[in-house]
Amino acid sequence: MFKQRRNASSVACTYRQKKIAMTLKRTSHSCFNGVSRPKSGRINLPVAPNCNIQCNYCNRKFDCLNENRPEVISKVLSPRQALYHLEKAMTFSQNITVVGIAGPGDPFANPDETMETLRLVRDKYPEMPLCVSTNGLDLLPYIDELARLQVSHVTLTINAIDPQIGREIYSWVRYNKKMYQDIDAAKLLIKKQLESLTRLKEAGVTAKVNVTVIPGINDFHVITVASKVAELGADILQCLPFYHTKETVFENLYETSAEMVQEIQDASSRFIPQMKHHTRCRADAAMMLKLAESAASPEKTLEYRPYIAVSGIEGVMMNQHLGEAERFLIYSMDDTGKCILVSAREAPQTGGGEQRWKELAETLKDCGTLLVSGAGNSPTKVLNTHGIEVIVIEGVIKKVVSGIFSGQDLKELLHRSQIHSGSSNCNGMGKNCG
Ligand code: SF4
Repeated sequence: MFKQRRNASSVACTYRQKKIAMTLKRTSHSCFNGVSRPKSGRINLPVAPNCNIQCNYCNRKFDCLNENRPEVISKVLSPRQALYHLEKAMTFSQNITVVGIAGPGDPFANPDETMETLRLVRDKYPEMPLCVSTNGLDLLPYIDELARLQVSHVTLTINAIDPQIGREIYSWVRYNKKMYQDIDAAKLLIKKQLESLTRLKEAGVTAKVNVTVIPGINDFHVITVASKVAELGADILQCLPFYHTKETVFENLYETSAEMVQEIQDASSRFIPQMKHHTRCRADAAMMLKLAESAASPEKTLEYRPYIAVSGIEGVMMNQHLGEAERFLIYSMDDTGKCILVSAREAPQTGGGEQRWKELAETLKDCGTLLVSGAGNSPTKVLNTHGIEVIVIEGVIKKVVSGIFSGQDLKELLHRSQIHSGSSNCNGMGKNCG
């Protein structure tokens, strides 16, 4: 009986697969189109730090593993910082053809940030393909707006459709502020995932399903998942190998072999097209722009601010308090990632209270960051409200500026520096800050 049903389904699937394959071939989404991959790329905007479930293979120290980006850690950006990051990335690379939100937690455990980011990006880039990757628990209420925003692709990770198997994979699920565990957690998650998949297809959104193949846990079940999601209209399936991660329930399980993945793909392909070219997604890691720079960019900044301003007495060390600065050195980054001095700008006259700092903000309006060895509360506040982040730091100017441009962790950048954002490092030694 099962065999007959499978064969009938296979015939219907062949026609549908051809249609889907043609559609996916045309898309510029680098994940869906293996041919376009070398020339095109997806940029992930990490605006979603929280997660609403606990997968037993995830220790939350890296980006959502359902996205298959092991060992990638994204700094979290606010929606506006994310747009700023994208704008800068677009100026560096012509290859960005898809913008995605995939974590580092789950996009819909952070729905406000996720939806705001998608709105901002759609507003700025009306033609840009958008995609989202989620575990599906909280996706349902947002599908209509995703369709309105023309989010073209949604990836759902569905590791099981049988709650008895799901209970082995998920420790807990938090839904509507209530915690669920064991079989209840699995039942709820699977129900929401399948409802979301159905609704996505009704709304005309391309749906990819990811399955993490976990040996001994769900490897024998993946074909059943494939059959079910195909029946609900999923467009393509990606079987992801399981990699063990320390400090997780599954840390001692065997990893999935390439042969096992291949075998499961072959068996599942009777029901649904397979994504095979996508090994380990390094879309973000490969981007030439580092997130740290955008994370350090001011919250209110929407303009493109390519420069970093520095106050230093002799132009080698950062050793000058903001209140004492007579000029600011302006640095940029060239195509090779090297920091270059662009210009020196005069500081406004001392005195004049707040007006002086407003004038400085105008002088530095193309700078996202100002590096000084000390700063008072009042100027810091004025500069912050004008979109300039003030970082109090000491050290060799070129080393620090290059480090910031290339996304290094500031704490690792200098051995002896005291690093603060804003005025907290002001020791009162600086003059003329009023
Ligand atoms: S969905 Fe699972 S893998 Fe992704 S962040 Fe949450 S717990 Fe980790």
